[in-house]
Amino acid sequence: MITKLPNRLINQIAAGEVVERPASALKELVENSIDAGAKKIEIKVVDGGKSLISVKDDGSGIRKDDLPLAIERFATSKLDDDNLFNIHTFGFRGEALASICSIARMSIKSCARDANEAYELIYEEEGYYISPTTGKNGTTIEVRDLFYATPARLKFLKSTNSEADACYNAICNIALSTPGVAFKYFENGKIKVDIAATTDLKIRTADVLGDEFAQNTKYVEYHEVDTKIYGFISVPNYNKSTSTKQWLFVNGRPIKDKMLAAAVKNAYKSVIPVGQYPVFLLYIDIPADAVDVNVHPAKTEVRFRDSQQLASMIYRLITDNLSERLGQQASTALSRMGLHGFAKQQSACKQIINEEYYAIPVSSSKNVNKNFEFEPMDIPNAFSNFKPDLKPENSNIATLKNEHIECEYGTAIAQIDATYIVAQNGSELIIVDQHAVCERITLEKLLNKERIESQQLLTPEIISINKSLVDVAEEQFEMLSIFGIDIEKIAADEICIRGIPVIFNGCDAKKLVTDILEELNSVQNMESFENKVRHVYATTACHRSVRAGKVLSISEMNNLLIQMQHTKNIAQCCHGRPSYVKFSANDLKKMFER
Ligand code: ADP
Ligand code: MG
Repeated sequence: MITKLPNRLINQIAAGEVVERPASALKELVENSIDAGAKKIEIKVVDGGKSLISVKDDGSGIRKDDLPLAIERFATSKLDDDNLFNIHTFGFRGEALASICSIARMSIKSCARDANEAYELIYEEEGYYISPTTGKNGTTIEVRDLFYATPARLKFLKSTNSEADACYNAICNIALSTPGVAFKYFENGKIKVDIAATTDLKIRTADVLGDEFAQNTKYVEYHEVDTKIYGFISVPNYNKSTSTKQWLFVNGRPIKDKMLAAAVKNAYKSVIPVGQYPVFLLYIDIPADAVDVNVHPAKTEVRFRDSQQLASMIYRLITDNLSERLGQQASTALSRMGLHGFAKQQSACKQIINEEYYAIPVSSSKNVNKNFEFEPMDIPNAFSNFKPDLKPENSNIATLKNEHIECEYGTAIAQIDATYIVAQNGSELIIVDQHAVCERITLEKLLNKERIESQQLLTPEIISINKSLVDVAEEQFEMLSIFGIDIEKIAADEICIRGIPVIFNGCDAKKLVTDILEELNSVQNMESFENKVRHVYATTACHRSVRAGKVLSISEMNNLLIQMQHTKNIAQCCHGRPSYVKFSANDLKKMFER
Protein backbone atom coordinates (compact mmCIF):
# COMPACT_ATOMS: atom_id res chain seq x y z
CA MET A 1 0.00 0.00 0.00
CA ILE A 2 1.33 3.41 -0.89
CA THR A 3 0.64 6.30 1.48
CA LYS A 4 1.62 9.96 1.39
CA LEU A 5 4.23 10.90 3.99
CA PRO A 6 3.21 13.33 6.71
CA ASN A 7 4.57 16.86 6.31
CA ARG A 8 6.88 16.79 9.28
CA LEU A 9 8.52 13.62 7.99
CA ILE A 10 8.93 15.14 4.53
CA ASN A 11 10.67 18.12 6.11
CA GLN A 12 12.88 15.88 8.20
CA ILE A 13 13.95 14.06 5.06
CA ALA A 14 14.76 17.38 3.39
CA ALA A 15 16.62 18.44 6.53
CA GLY A 16 18.91 15.48 5.95
CA GLU A 17 20.26 17.29 2.92
CA VAL A 18 20.02 20.92 3.94
CA VAL A 19 21.12 20.68 7.55
CA GLU A 20 24.13 18.46 7.87
CA ARG A 21 25.38 20.01 11.10
CA PRO A 22 24.84 23.14 13.23
CA ALA A 23 27.08 25.18 10.92
CA SER A 24 24.78 24.50 7.98
CA ALA A 25 21.72 25.72 9.91
CA LEU A 26 23.68 28.79 10.94
CA LYS A 27 24.69 29.43 7.32
CA GLU A 28 21.05 29.29 6.20
CA LEU A 29 19.93 31.72 8.91
CA VAL A 30 22.65 34.26 8.23
CA GLU A 31 22.10 34.04 4.48
CA ASN A 32 18.42 34.77 5.09
CA SER A 33 19.40 37.89 7.05
CA ILE A 34 21.58 39.08 4.19
CA ASP A 35 18.82 38.35 1.68
CA ALA A 36 16.58 40.53 3.87
CA GLY A 37 18.98 43.43 3.39
CA ALA A 38 20.49 43.37 6.89
CA LYS A 39 23.44 45.66 7.57
CA LYS A 40 24.15 44.40 11.09
CA ILE A 41 24.00 40.77 12.14
CA GLU A 42 24.55 39.42 15.62
CA ILE A 43 25.12 35.70 16.04
CA LYS A 44 25.24 33.56 19.15
CA VAL A 45 26.28 29.95 19.27
CA VAL A 46 26.33 27.76 22.38
CA ASP A 47 27.97 24.31 22.55
CA GLY A 48 29.05 24.40 18.93
CA GLY A 49 25.48 25.23 17.94
CA LYS A 50 24.11 22.02 19.45
CA SER A 51 22.16 23.78 22.20
CA LEU A 52 21.62 27.22 20.68
CA ILE A 53 22.02 29.10 17.44
CA SER A 54 20.64 32.61 17.43
CA VAL A 55 20.76 35.11 14.59
CA LYS A 56 19.53 38.66 14.99
CA ASP A 57 19.39 41.10 12.10
CA ASP A 58 18.18 44.57 11.15
CA GLY A 59 16.74 43.45 7.83
CA SER A 60 13.32 43.91 6.28
CA GLY A 61 11.58 41.63 8.78
CA ILE A 62 8.64 39.27 8.23
CA ARG A 63 5.03 40.45 8.37
CA LYS A 64 2.69 38.71 10.80
CA ASP A 65 0.74 37.03 7.99
CA ASP A 66 3.89 35.74 6.39
CA LEU A 67 5.27 34.09 9.53
CA PRO A 68 3.44 30.76 8.95
CA LEU A 69 4.61 30.74 5.33
CA ALA A 70 8.22 31.31 6.33
CA ILE A 71 8.31 27.87 7.93
CA GLU A 72 6.37 26.16 5.19
CA ARG A 73 8.28 24.07 2.69
CA PHE A 74 8.68 25.50 -0.83
CA ALA A 75 7.40 28.89 0.28
CA THR A 76 9.75 31.76 -0.53
CA SER A 77 9.65 35.48 -1.14
CA LYS A 78 12.69 35.33 -3.45
CA LEU A 79 11.59 33.74 -6.72
CA ASP A 80 9.25 36.31 -8.17
CA ASP A 81 9.62 35.58 -11.86
CA ASP A 82 9.71 31.77 -11.71
CA ASN A 83 13.14 31.90 -13.29
CA LEU A 84 15.73 29.63 -11.75
CA PHE A 85 18.40 31.26 -13.90
CA ASN A 86 17.94 34.74 -12.59
CA ILE A 87 18.81 34.35 -8.94
CA HIS A 88 20.31 37.23 -7.00
CA THR A 89 19.74 35.98 -3.47
CA PHE A 90 21.38 33.28 -1.39
CA GLY A 91 18.10 31.47 -0.85
CA PHE A 92 15.40 30.54 -3.34
CA ARG A 93 14.33 26.97 -2.51
CA GLY A 94 12.15 27.91 0.45
CA GLU A 95 13.11 24.87 2.46
CA ALA A 96 15.66 25.95 5.07
CA LEU A 97 13.33 27.14 7.83
CA ALA A 98 10.87 24.30 7.19
CA SER A 99 13.70 21.79 7.49
CA ILE A 100 15.24 23.33 10.58
CA CYS A 101 12.00 23.55 12.51
CA SER A 102 11.22 19.91 11.79
CA ILE A 103 14.32 18.79 13.69
CA ALA A 104 14.76 21.50 16.35
CA ARG A 105 12.91 23.91 18.59
CA MET A 106 12.61 27.22 16.82
CA SER A 107 11.32 30.69 17.42
CA ILE A 108 11.10 33.63 15.03
CA LYS A 109 10.69 37.15 16.38
CA SER A 110 10.19 39.75 13.74
CA CYS A 111 9.08 43.27 13.13
CA ALA A 112 8.55 44.14 9.47
CA ARG A 113 9.88 47.46 8.22
CA ASP A 114 6.48 49.00 7.56
CA ALA A 115 4.78 47.48 10.62
CA ASN A 116 4.84 48.93 14.09
CA GLU A 117 4.31 45.73 16.00
CA ALA A 118 6.58 42.76 16.44
CA TYR A 119 5.33 39.16 16.48
CA GLU A 120 6.82 35.93 17.60
CA LEU A 121 6.24 32.51 16.09
CA ILE A 122 7.07 29.60 18.32
CA TYR A 123 7.24 26.25 16.67
CA GLU A 124 6.66 23.06 18.58
CA GLU A 125 6.18 19.46 17.59
CA GLU A 126 2.39 19.79 17.57
CA GLY A 127 2.38 23.00 15.55
CA TYR A 128 3.04 26.67 16.02
CA TYR A 129 1.49 29.66 17.68
CA ILE A 130 1.99 33.37 17.08
CA SER A 131 1.79 36.10 19.68
CA PRO A 132 2.65 39.81 19.86
CA THR A 133 6.02 40.66 21.32
CA THR A 134 8.39 43.58 21.64
CA GLY A 135 11.30 44.35 19.37
CA LYS A 136 12.67 46.74 16.80
CA ASN A 137 12.74 46.34 13.04
CA GLY A 138 14.39 43.16 11.97
CA THR A 139 14.31 39.48 12.78
CA THR A 140 15.72 37.24 15.48
CA ILE A 141 15.62 33.51 14.93
CA GLU A 142 16.59 31.09 17.65
CA VAL A 143 17.20 27.42 17.08
CA ARG A 144 17.58 25.22 20.14
CA ASP A 145 18.45 21.55 20.54
CA LEU A 146 19.16 20.88 16.92
CA PHE A 147 18.45 17.26 15.90
CA TYR A 148 16.56 16.52 19.14
CA ALA A 149 13.74 15.22 16.92
CA THR A 150 16.07 12.97 14.95
CA PRO A 151 18.27 11.34 17.62
CA ALA A 152 20.04 9.15 15.07
CA ARG A 153 21.44 12.27 13.37
CA LEU A 154 22.49 13.71 16.69
CA LYS A 155 24.94 10.84 17.04
CA PHE A 156 26.73 11.85 13.87
CA LEU A 157 27.75 15.23 15.22
CA LYS A 158 31.41 15.78 15.92
CA SER A 159 32.90 17.12 19.15
CA THR A 160 31.58 20.45 20.42
CA ASN A 161 34.90 22.06 19.48
CA SER A 162 34.85 20.94 15.91
CA GLU A 163 31.19 21.92 15.49
CA ALA A 164 32.10 25.34 16.93
CA ASP A 165 34.98 25.59 14.44
CA ALA A 166 32.65 24.78 11.59
CA CYS A 167 30.24 27.51 12.77
CA TYR A 168 33.08 29.99 12.97
CA ASN A 169 34.23 29.07 9.46
CA ALA A 170 30.71 29.44 8.12
CA ILE A 171 30.58 32.97 9.51
CA CYS A 172 33.99 33.81 8.05
CA ASN A 173 32.89 32.56 4.64
CA ILE A 174 29.81 34.72 4.63
CA ALA A 175 31.65 37.75 5.99
CA LEU A 176 34.20 37.46 3.19
CA SER A 177 31.53 37.84 0.55
CA THR A 178 29.55 40.60 2.24
CA PRO A 179 31.95 43.38 3.30
CA GLY A 180 29.04 45.82 3.56
CA VAL A 181 27.56 43.95 6.51
CA ALA A 182 28.80 44.28 10.12
CA PHE A 183 29.08 41.06 12.14
CA LYS A 184 29.24 40.21 15.81
CA TYR A 185 29.72 36.58 16.70
CA PHE A 186 29.54 35.16 20.22
CA GLU A 187 30.68 31.69 21.13
CA ASN A 188 29.42 30.50 24.52
CA GLY A 189 28.83 34.11 25.52
CA LYS A 190 32.30 35.36 24.50
CA ILE A 191 32.71 37.64 21.55
CA LYS A 192 34.84 36.05 18.87
CA VAL A 193 34.24 38.20 15.80
CA ASP A 194 33.45 41.88 15.81
CA ILE A 195 33.88 43.46 12.43
CA ALA A 196 32.58 46.71 11.02
CA ALA A 197 31.02 47.18 7.59
CA THR A 198 33.42 48.41 4.90
CA THR A 199 33.51 49.03 1.19
CA ASP A 200 37.13 47.92 0.99
CA LEU A 201 37.64 44.21 0.37
CA LYS A 202 41.22 44.42 1.65
CA ILE A 203 40.01 45.63 5.03
CA ARG A 204 37.39 42.90 5.22
CA THR A 205 39.81 40.10 4.35
CA ALA A 206 42.38 41.39 6.82
CA ASP A 207 39.64 41.60 9.48
CA VAL A 208 38.52 38.06 8.85
CA LEU A 209 41.72 36.27 7.88
CA GLY A 210 44.34 38.23 9.75
CA ASP A 211 47.64 39.96 9.01
CA GLU A 212 49.49 36.91 7.78
CA PHE A 213 47.01 36.51 4.95
CA ALA A 214 47.20 40.19 4.07
CA GLN A 215 51.01 40.24 4.08
CA ASN A 216 51.43 37.18 1.90
CA THR A 217 48.81 37.72 -0.75
CA LYS A 218 48.35 40.13 -3.58
CA TYR A 219 45.19 41.61 -5.02
CA VAL A 220 44.60 40.52 -8.61
CA GLU A 221 41.85 41.24 -11.07
CA TYR A 222 40.71 40.23 -14.54
CA HIS A 223 37.84 41.42 -16.73
CA GLU A 224 36.43 39.87 -19.83
CA VAL A 225 33.17 41.07 -21.34
CA ASP A 226 30.66 40.25 -18.61
CA THR A 227 32.95 38.21 -16.40
CA LYS A 228 35.06 39.59 -13.60
CA ILE A 229 37.48 37.55 -11.52
CA TYR A 230 39.24 39.23 -8.63
CA GLY A 231 40.62 38.55 -5.22
CA PHE A 232 43.83 37.58 -3.49
CA ILE A 233 46.47 35.00 -4.36
CA SER A 234 49.41 33.97 -2.23
CA VAL A 235 53.11 34.38 -2.82
CA PRO A 236 54.19 30.88 -3.83
CA ASN A 237 56.02 29.94 -0.69
CA TYR A 238 53.07 30.84 1.45
CA ASN A 239 51.39 27.48 0.90
CA LYS A 240 49.58 24.96 3.07
CA SER A 241 49.38 21.19 3.41
CA THR A 242 45.59 21.22 3.05
CA SER A 243 43.15 23.07 0.85
CA THR A 244 41.40 24.78 3.76
CA LYS A 245 42.88 28.18 2.96
CA GLN A 246 41.18 28.39 -0.40
CA TRP A 247 38.02 30.37 -0.90
CA LEU A 248 35.96 30.69 -4.01
CA PHE A 249 32.84 32.80 -4.40
CA VAL A 250 30.54 32.88 -7.37
CA ASN A 251 28.25 35.88 -7.41
CA GLY A 252 28.88 36.18 -3.69
CA ARG A 253 28.06 32.57 -2.92
CA PRO A 254 30.80 30.47 -1.29
CA ILE A 255 31.26 27.34 -3.36
CA LYS A 256 33.56 24.37 -3.87
CA ASP A 257 34.64 23.59 -7.40
CA LYS A 258 37.23 20.94 -8.17
CA MET A 259 37.94 22.11 -11.69
CA LEU A 260 38.58 25.73 -10.76
CA ALA A 261 40.68 24.73 -7.75
CA ALA A 262 42.70 22.51 -10.10
CA ALA A 263 43.23 25.48 -12.43
CA VAL A 264 44.74 27.44 -9.55
CA LYS A 265 46.88 24.50 -8.51
CA ASN A 266 48.16 24.05 -12.04
CA ALA A 267 49.06 27.71 -12.28
CA TYR A 268 51.20 27.31 -9.17
CA LYS A 269 52.60 23.96 -10.20
CA SER A 270 56.11 25.08 -11.04
CA VAL A 271 56.50 27.18 -7.93
CA ILE A 272 55.07 25.19 -5.05
CA PRO A 273 56.02 21.69 -3.86
CA VAL A 274 54.00 18.69 -4.93
CA GLY A 275 51.23 18.00 -2.43
CA GLN A 276 51.11 21.57 -1.09
CA TYR A 277 48.20 23.93 -1.71
CA PRO A 278 48.36 27.62 -2.59
CA VAL A 279 46.31 30.05 -0.54
CA PHE A 280 43.71 32.01 -2.48
CA LEU A 281 40.50 33.92 -2.16
CA LEU A 282 38.82 34.52 -5.49
CA TYR A 283 35.53 36.10 -6.43
CA ILE A 284 33.89 35.37 -9.74
CA ASP A 285 31.14 37.71 -10.88
CA ILE A 286 29.25 36.40 -13.88
CA PRO A 287 25.76 36.93 -15.30
CA ALA A 288 23.16 35.01 -13.29
CA ASP A 289 22.19 32.97 -16.33
CA ALA A 290 25.76 31.70 -16.83
CA VAL A 291 25.58 29.63 -13.70
CA ASP A 292 23.12 27.09 -12.34
CA VAL A 293 22.98 27.40 -8.57
CA ASN A 294 20.25 24.82 -8.16
CA VAL A 295 22.54 21.80 -8.12
CA HIS A 296 23.11 21.14 -4.46
CA PRO A 297 20.57 21.38 -1.60
CA ALA A 298 23.02 23.35 0.54
CA LYS A 299 23.96 25.36 -2.59
CA THR A 300 27.69 24.75 -2.08
CA GLU A 301 28.19 23.55 -5.63
CA VAL A 302 27.17 25.18 -8.87
CA ARG A 303 27.25 24.29 -12.54
CA PHE A 304 28.78 26.75 -14.98
CA ARG A 305 27.70 27.22 -18.55
CA ASP A 306 31.36 27.25 -19.52
CA SER A 307 33.61 26.05 -16.75
CA GLN A 308 36.51 25.34 -19.09
CA GLN A 309 36.67 28.99 -20.06
CA LEU A 310 36.56 30.14 -16.44
CA ALA A 311 39.32 27.69 -15.57
CA SER A 312 41.58 29.05 -18.25
CA MET A 313 40.85 32.65 -17.22
CA ILE A 314 41.86 31.80 -13.67
CA TYR A 315 44.94 29.97 -14.88
CA ARG A 316 46.03 32.95 -16.95
CA LEU A 317 45.27 35.48 -14.24
CA ILE A 318 47.48 33.64 -11.79
CA THR A 319 50.37 32.76 -14.10
CA ASP A 320 50.53 36.36 -15.33
CA ASN A 321 50.73 37.67 -11.81
CA LEU A 322 53.16 35.05 -10.60
CA SER A 323 55.63 35.91 -13.31
CA GLU A 324 55.63 39.50 -12.15
CA ARG A 325 56.84 40.44 -8.67
CA LEU A 326 54.82 37.92 -6.75
CA GLY A 327 57.15 34.98 -7.32
CA GLN A 328 60.09 36.93 -5.94
CA GLN A 329 58.60 37.68 -2.60
CA ALA A 330 59.47 35.42 0.33
CA SER A 331 56.62 34.52 2.64
CA THR A 332 56.64 36.28 6.00
CA ALA A 333 55.35 33.02 7.42
CA LEU A 334 58.83 31.60 6.80
CA SER A 335 60.65 34.14 8.89
CA ARG A 336 57.95 33.79 11.50
CA MET A 337 58.58 30.07 11.55
CA GLY A 338 62.28 30.80 12.08
CA LEU A 339 61.42 33.17 14.89
CA HIS A 340 59.07 30.65 16.38
CA GLY A 341 61.76 27.97 16.42
CA PHE A 342 64.07 30.44 18.08
CA ALA A 343 61.49 31.39 20.65
CA LYS A 344 60.86 27.76 21.49
CA GLN A 345 64.54 27.15 22.03
CA GLN A 346 64.74 30.30 24.06
CA SER A 347 61.94 29.30 26.36
CA ALA A 348 63.69 25.95 26.74
CA CYS A 349 66.74 27.89 27.92
CA LYS A 350 64.67 29.90 30.33
CA GLN A 351 63.22 26.77 31.74
CA ILE A 352 66.69 25.46 32.33
CA ILE A 353 67.60 28.57 34.25
CA ASN A 354 64.40 28.61 36.22
CA GLU A 355 64.84 25.08 37.29
CA GLU A 356 68.44 25.80 38.22
CA TYR A 357 69.39 22.91 36.10
CA TYR A 358 72.59 24.06 34.57
CA ALA A 359 74.34 20.85 33.70
CA ILE A 360 72.78 19.93 30.39
CA PRO A 361 75.54 18.97 27.99
CA VAL A 362 74.35 20.73 24.90
CA SER A 363 76.51 18.96 22.40
CA SER A 364 74.57 15.77 23.00
CA SER A 365 71.42 17.24 21.48
CA LYS A 366 70.77 15.24 18.36
CA ASN A 367 69.96 17.89 15.86
CA VAL A 368 70.06 16.65 12.33
CA ASN A 369 70.55 20.03 10.79
CA LYS A 370 72.96 21.30 13.39
CA ASN A 371 74.45 24.20 11.56
CA PHE A 372 71.17 25.90 11.09
CA GLU A 373 69.71 25.43 14.46
CA PHE A 374 70.11 27.57 17.51
CA GLU A 375 71.77 25.47 20.15
CA PRO A 376 70.97 26.29 23.74
CA MET A 377 74.19 26.90 25.61
CA ASP A 378 75.23 26.30 29.14
CA ILE A 379 73.87 29.70 30.04
CA PRO A 380 75.52 30.72 33.34
CA ASN A 381 78.97 29.74 32.08
CA ALA A 382 78.47 31.46 28.82
CA PHE A 383 77.84 34.68 30.65
CA SER A 384 80.64 34.52 33.20
CA ASN A 385 83.28 33.53 30.66
CA PHE A 386 82.03 35.79 27.95
CA LYS A 387 84.85 37.23 25.89
CA PRO A 388 84.15 38.76 22.54
CA ASP A 389 85.96 36.71 19.94
CA LEU A 390 85.90 37.98 16.42
CA LYS A 391 87.24 34.85 14.87
CA PRO A 392 84.48 32.34 14.45
CA GLU A 393 85.36 29.03 16.01
CA ASN A 394 83.06 27.12 13.76
CA SER A 395 84.97 26.04 10.69
CA ASN A 396 81.70 25.91 8.81
CA ILE A 397 81.56 29.68 8.70
CA ALA A 398 83.71 31.14 5.99
CA THR A 399 85.23 34.54 6.79
CA LEU A 400 85.46 36.71 3.79
CA LYS A 401 86.64 40.12 2.79
CA ASN A 402 83.99 42.74 2.42
CA GLU A 403 82.84 43.93 -0.97
CA HIS A 404 79.80 46.17 -1.24
CA ILE A 405 77.17 45.87 -3.96
CA GLU A 406 73.84 47.58 -4.59
CA CYS A 407 71.27 44.82 -4.54
CA GLU A 408 67.85 44.33 -3.03
CA TYR A 409 68.97 40.99 -1.61
CA GLY A 410 71.88 42.72 0.09
CA THR A 411 75.63 42.20 0.11
CA ALA A 412 77.11 38.80 0.89
CA ILE A 413 78.93 38.73 4.21
CA ALA A 414 79.47 35.04 4.84
CA GLN A 415 78.75 31.54 3.70
CA ILE A 416 77.58 28.94 6.19
CA ASP A 417 78.17 25.24 5.80
CA ALA A 418 79.08 25.86 2.16
CA THR A 419 75.33 25.95 1.57
CA TYR A 420 73.80 29.19 2.81
CA ILE A 421 74.74 32.69 1.85
CA VAL A 422 74.32 35.25 4.60
CA ALA A 423 73.66 38.71 3.25
CA GLN A 424 72.95 42.08 4.75
CA ASN A 425 70.70 44.67 3.22
CA GLY A 426 70.66 47.75 5.40
CA SER A 427 69.05 46.55 8.57
CA GLU A 428 67.76 43.33 7.03
CA LEU A 429 69.35 39.92 7.38
CA ILE A 430 68.89 37.64 4.40
CA ILE A 431 69.76 33.96 4.26
CA VAL A 432 69.88 32.35 0.85
CA ASP A 433 69.97 28.68 -0.09
CA GLN A 434 72.57 28.77 -2.87
CA HIS A 435 71.42 25.61 -4.63
CA ALA A 436 67.78 26.67 -4.62
CA VAL A 437 68.42 30.09 -6.16
CA CYS A 438 70.88 28.76 -8.66
CA GLU A 439 68.38 26.18 -9.84
CA ARG A 440 65.71 28.83 -10.30
CA ILE A 441 68.11 31.19 -12.09
CA THR A 442 69.11 28.45 -14.54
CA LEU A 443 65.50 27.53 -15.28
CA GLU A 444 64.18 31.04 -15.71
CA LYS A 445 67.15 32.09 -17.82
CA LEU A 446 66.38 29.22 -20.06
CA LEU A 447 62.68 29.86 -20.35
CA ASN A 448 62.95 33.59 -20.58
CA LYS A 449 63.91 33.42 -24.23
CA GLU A 450 61.45 33.51 -27.05
CA ARG A 451 63.40 30.76 -28.64
CA ILE A 452 65.84 28.67 -26.66
CA GLU A 453 69.22 28.40 -28.27
CA SER A 454 70.02 24.88 -29.32
CA GLN A 455 73.42 23.27 -29.33
CA GLN A 456 74.05 20.66 -32.00
CA LEU A 457 75.28 17.34 -30.61
CA LEU A 458 78.67 16.21 -31.92
CA THR A 459 77.18 12.88 -32.79
CA PRO A 460 73.43 12.82 -33.15
CA GLU A 461 71.82 10.24 -30.88
CA ILE A 462 69.23 7.78 -32.04
CA ILE A 463 66.64 6.53 -29.59
CA SER A 464 64.09 3.76 -29.94
CA ILE A 465 60.90 4.67 -28.17
CA ASN A 466 57.26 3.88 -28.03
CA LYS A 467 55.37 4.69 -31.23
CA SER A 468 53.02 7.07 -29.44
CA LEU A 469 55.98 9.13 -28.25
CA VAL A 470 57.26 9.34 -31.81
CA ASP A 471 53.84 10.66 -32.82
CA VAL A 472 54.05 13.32 -30.12
CA ALA A 473 57.51 14.28 -31.33
CA GLU A 474 56.26 14.60 -34.88
CA GLU A 475 53.19 16.63 -33.93
CA GLN A 476 55.14 18.98 -31.68
CA PHE A 477 58.19 19.32 -33.85
CA GLU A 478 57.89 23.13 -34.18
CA MET A 479 57.19 23.76 -30.51
CA LEU A 480 60.05 21.51 -29.44
CA SER A 481 62.48 23.41 -31.60
CA ILE A 482 61.35 26.64 -29.94
CA PHE A 483 62.37 25.00 -26.68
CA GLY A 484 65.79 24.13 -28.10
CA ILE A 485 65.08 20.49 -28.87
CA ASP A 486 66.08 19.54 -32.39
CA ILE A 487 64.82 16.10 -33.38
CA GLU A 488 63.87 14.13 -36.44
CA LYS A 489 61.68 11.09 -36.95
CA ILE A 490 63.59 8.29 -38.62
CA ALA A 491 61.26 5.32 -38.14
CA ALA A 492 57.88 4.56 -36.63
CA ASP A 493 59.58 3.90 -33.32
CA GLU A 494 62.85 5.77 -33.65
CA ILE A 495 63.90 9.38 -33.48
CA CYS A 496 67.22 11.07 -33.90
CA ILE A 497 68.27 13.85 -31.50
CA ARG A 498 70.36 16.50 -33.20
CA GLY A 499 70.41 19.28 -30.67
CA ILE A 500 69.44 20.21 -27.11
CA PRO A 501 69.45 23.56 -25.27
CA VAL A 502 72.96 25.04 -24.97
CA ILE A 503 72.52 25.40 -21.26
CA PHE A 504 72.16 21.63 -20.95
CA ASN A 505 75.26 20.94 -22.94
CA GLY A 506 76.79 17.67 -21.82
CA CYS A 507 73.74 16.31 -20.08
CA ASP A 508 72.04 13.02 -20.96
CA ALA A 509 70.25 14.03 -24.16
CA LYS A 510 68.36 10.74 -24.47
CA LYS A 511 66.94 11.03 -21.01
CA LEU A 512 66.05 14.70 -21.46
CA VAL A 513 64.16 14.10 -24.69
CA THR A 514 62.38 10.94 -23.49
CA ASP A 515 61.30 12.71 -20.32
CA ILE A 516 59.86 15.59 -22.30
CA LEU A 517 58.00 13.37 -24.75
CA GLU A 518 56.59 11.30 -21.91
CA GLU A 519 55.48 14.39 -20.08
CA LEU A 520 53.82 15.77 -23.22
CA ASN A 521 52.13 12.45 -23.83
CA SER A 522 50.87 12.15 -20.25
CA VAL A 523 47.19 12.40 -19.53
CA GLN A 524 45.62 15.37 -21.24
CA ASN A 525 45.25 18.06 -18.66
CA MET A 526 44.94 21.77 -18.65
CA GLU A 527 48.60 22.38 -18.49
CA SER A 528 50.23 24.24 -21.28
CA PHE A 529 52.96 22.85 -23.45
CA GLU A 530 55.35 25.27 -21.81
CA ASN A 531 54.51 24.07 -18.34
CA LYS A 532 55.13 20.48 -19.26
CA VAL A 533 58.51 21.26 -20.76
CA ARG A 534 59.23 23.52 -17.81
CA HIS A 535 58.65 20.60 -15.51
CA VAL A 536 61.30 18.48 -17.21
CA TYR A 537 63.71 21.39 -17.56
CA ALA A 538 63.34 22.15 -13.88
CA THR A 539 64.63 18.70 -12.95
CA THR A 540 67.48 19.01 -15.42
CA ALA A 541 68.32 22.50 -14.15
CA CYS A 542 68.41 21.10 -10.64
CA HIS A 543 71.09 18.60 -11.55
CA ARG A 544 73.20 21.25 -13.20
CA SER A 545 73.08 23.91 -10.50
CA VAL A 546 75.60 24.88 -7.86
CA ARG A 547 75.31 22.19 -5.25
CA ALA A 548 74.90 22.69 -1.57
CA GLY A 549 78.37 22.09 -0.18
CA LYS A 550 80.30 24.14 -2.72
CA VAL A 551 82.46 26.83 -1.18
CA LEU A 552 81.84 30.17 -2.91
CA SER A 553 83.89 33.34 -2.91
CA ILE A 554 82.30 36.58 -1.84
CA SER A 555 82.08 37.79 -5.42
CA GLU A 556 80.51 34.54 -6.58
CA MET A 557 77.91 34.98 -3.87
CA ASN A 558 77.33 38.62 -4.74
CA ASN A 559 76.97 37.57 -8.31
CA LEU A 560 74.19 35.17 -7.34
CA LEU A 561 72.46 37.86 -5.28
CA ILE A 562 72.52 40.23 -8.24
CA GLN A 563 71.14 37.59 -10.57
CA MET A 564 68.34 36.94 -8.09
CA GLN A 565 67.08 40.45 -8.73
CA HIS A 566 66.41 39.73 -12.36
CA THR A 567 64.89 36.30 -11.94
CA LYS A 568 61.20 35.48 -11.89
CA ASN A 569 59.88 33.27 -9.11
CA ILE A 570 63.19 33.53 -7.28
CA ALA A 571 61.63 33.05 -3.86
CA GLN A 572 61.39 29.32 -4.48
CA CYS A 573 63.45 26.60 -6.14
CA CYS A 574 62.08 24.60 -9.07
CA HIS A 575 60.39 22.19 -6.66
CA GLY A 576 58.70 25.01 -4.81
CA ARG A 577 60.83 24.95 -1.69
CA PRO A 578 61.74 28.37 -0.31
CA SER A 579 65.04 29.75 -1.53
CA TYR A 580 65.59 32.62 0.86
CA VAL A 581 64.33 34.08 4.12
CA LYS A 582 64.44 37.63 5.23
CA PHE A 583 64.52 38.96 8.79
CA SER A 584 63.82 42.62 9.33
CA ALA A 585 65.36 44.53 12.22
CA ASN A 586 61.95 44.26 13.78
CA ASP A 587 61.97 40.46 13.49
CA LEU A 588 65.37 40.36 15.17
CA LYS A 589 64.11 42.63 17.90
CA LYS A 590 61.30 40.18 18.57
CA MET A 591 63.77 37.30 18.65
CA PHE A 592 65.68 38.97 21.42
CA GLU A 593 62.53 40.16 23.13
CA ARG A 594 63.59 43.79 23.07
P1 ADP B 1 14.50 30.81 1.14
O1 ADP B 1 15.59 31.59 1.78
O2 ADP B 1 15.00 29.84 0.15
O3 ADP B 1 13.42 31.66 0.60
P2 ADP B 1 13.94 29.92 3.83
O4 ADP B 1 13.24 28.73 4.36
O5 ADP B 1 15.35 30.11 4.22
O6 ADP B 1 13.82 29.89 2.27
O7 ADP B 1 13.14 31.19 4.26
C1 ADP B 1 11.78 31.30 3.92
C2 ADP B 1 11.31 32.74 3.83
O8 ADP B 1 11.31 33.33 5.13
C3 ADP B 1 12.21 33.62 3.00
O9 ADP B 1 11.86 33.56 1.63
C4 ADP B 1 11.94 35.00 3.61
O10 ADP B 1 10.83 35.60 3.03
C5 ADP B 1 11.62 34.70 5.03
N1 ADP B 1 12.77 34.94 5.94
C6 ADP B 1 13.56 34.03 6.51
N2 ADP B 1 14.49 34.61 7.29
C7 ADP B 1 14.29 35.94 7.22
C8 ADP B 1 14.95 37.08 7.79
N3 ADP B 1 16.00 36.97 8.61
N4 ADP B 1 14.45 38.31 7.49
C9 ADP B 1 13.39 38.44 6.66
N5 ADP B 1 12.76 37.40 6.08
C10 ADP B 1 13.19 36.16 6.36
MG1 MG C 1 17.02 30.79 3.05
